[in-house]
Amino acid sequence: MYDIDDLIQLSALQHMAFCPRQCALIHIEQTWTESGLTAEGRIMHERVHDEDRESRGNVKIEYGVPLRSLRLGLVGKADVVEFHRKADDRWQPFPVEYKRGRPKAEHCDKVQLCAQAMCLEEMLGVSIPAGAIFYGQTRHRLDVAFDEALRKETEDTAKQVQALIESGSTPKPVYMKRCERCSLNAECLPKTMQKKRSVKTYLTRVTGES
Ligand code: SF4
Repeated sequence: MYDIDDLIQLSALQHMAFCPRQCALIHIEQTWTESGLTAEGRIMHERVHDEDRESRGNVKIEYGVPLRSLRLGLVGKADVVEFHRKADDRWQPFPVEYKRGRPKAEHCDKVQLCAQAMCLEEMLGVSIPAGAIFYGQTRHRLDVAFDEALRKETEDTAKQVQALIESGSTPKPVYMKRCERCSLNAECLPKTMQKKRSVKTYLTRVTGES
């Protein structure tokens, strides 16, 4: 169990699952620039959080729900938590995360949503088998099952973020295809930095310097 002072932002899991360096730049070095795309995403989240709650038949909807898990060491907010009325009249929580873009090959959005569900499970003492991610670009709602594999990936990612922040050190850039979609590409300069490192390694080798 973590202390309340040691909780990390739940969104860091999404950054970590996308790229550890991005996570460190944001959560250790506090680097953040707002591009057109991130502004669009922020406005979309703010619009969602502006609402408060509503009720539609057998579904109650809460917006901007505070979250916390002392077991995973996380604090944050869910965009939306729907509560679906079950046959026995109990209400089943169903988290829904809003994203600006489209579904990604990486698991980062699913890990973030699963972490929200695990926070809710700890807070409410219930089991949450599924949630959904709404993608603004495709206007599509992707259902996500919180199976054992995704739960393990989420727990492991939470531990990795805690260790990264504890280390206080930012990993070196490694250029990947996903760098082209990264909001911190201009600050990270993965291609340039990697080239500089290759030149330095070469010079060290030929001059025999350590
Ligand atoms: S540009 Fe690439 S290496 Fe740099 S933070 Fe983004 S994803 Fe990571």
